Amino acid sequence: MRDFVLDQPGGRVVFGAGSLDAVPGEVRALGAERVMLVNDRHSRTTAETVAARLPGLVVARVGRTATHVPEHLAADAVRLARESGADLLVCVGGGSATGLAKAVALETRLRILAVPTTYAGSEMTPIWGLTGDGRKRTGRDPGVRPVCVVYDPVLTLGLPPALSAASGMNAMAHLVEAVYAPRVSPLTVTAAIEGAGALARALPGVVRDPADLAARDEALYGAWLAGWVLGTTTTGIHHRICHVLGGRYALPHAATHSAVLPYATAHNREAAGPSLAPLARALGAEDAAAGLWDLAVSIGAPTSLAAVGMRERDLDEAAALVAAERPVAGVRDLLRAAYAGARPSQESNEVTP
Ligand code: NAD
Repeated sequence: MRDFVLDQPGGRVVFGAGSLDAVPGEVRALGAERVMLVNDRHSRTTAETVAARLPGLVVARVGRTATHVPEHLAADAVRLARESGADLLVCVGGGSATGLAKAVALETRLRILAVPTTYAGSEMTPIWGLTGDGRKRTGRDPGVRPVCVVYDPVLTLGLPPALSAASGMNAMAHLVEAVYAPRVSPLTVTAAIEGAGALARALPGVVRDPADLAARDEALYGAWLAGWVLGTTTTGIHHRICHVLGGRYALPHAATHSAVLPYATAHNREAAGPSLAPLARALGAEDAAAGLWDLAVSIGAPTSLAAVGMRERDLDEAAALVAAERPVAGVRDLLRAAYAGARPSQESNEVTP
């Protein structure tokens, strides 16, 4: 008997090498006359290209972004959007640029056209996040989900191997948590398994040769599916942990996801039951948790919290903060395993020495 909920996103997606050229047409199709451009430092040149192709339409620009969207940056950007009378936000860059545009949309109800350049997946979701006073707040609002997303794998060619690997594991985390989400729709599970297979195939090639456009295309395809999946379902203990660690200890977002994922998957092994088997197959592994660890190691992505800057003495406080959001057994052990970073054993959440 089927029993599921599908929160179906309605945005438009344009995918393909060279799709950046489609941005001016998409902006005009949205009827925009006053564009505010938001870009991270890396995408400054790309944003300038976009601006040059929208003569007279760009009324404001924001070129400063930061992970987890600090509240003061969001407030400045909201003010600029209001003062400039912008009627569309166009963001170019990683999840931090998308996140800043979402923070503006949250306050102003402006629509967003997103051009992502990493594998974070935020562009496909109604999830916003803001950080202040060492705490990250998140929420869901359909109004912040971009109405149009332009995926151009050419824009990802410059993403360095280490960032590509960590960002790819961040996308993988969205796919993994969808597989065992309560009341997940069969469509979402199918997309999650497809996305996991695409990322597992693509990431080793991306890391070996960052300029390999076919591998980049496959990785971005997996990332699109990961974002879509994240936008259609709920997340679990893995995302909750990463959210707490990112907000409280300012750990790097994607790398933290990479470090926690194998252990969160091992932690969920029993509760998830047979639903992890197709994921393991997509990873070419017997066990999903071990397969994720192997993939991370093979692409040089972090597999330990120690490696991403977590201090051992903060583990207990972190476990308490995670449990305060929603009590869950075994978080302390999960965090200790993630801190140590050994390969998860197949039988339990214990790690092999
Ligand atoms: P990021 O946006 O902070 O980018 C990391 C670094 O990579 C930055 O210095 C950026 O300038 C650079 N960069 C971006 N694209 C590049 C490219 N193609 N080549 C070279 N350098 C490039 O990191 P991220 O991992 O993309 O995003 C993380 C943020 O996104 C976090 O704040 C996280 O909370 C958020 N996020 C939100 C959602 C959501 O649904 N709301 C989902 C995933 C991530």
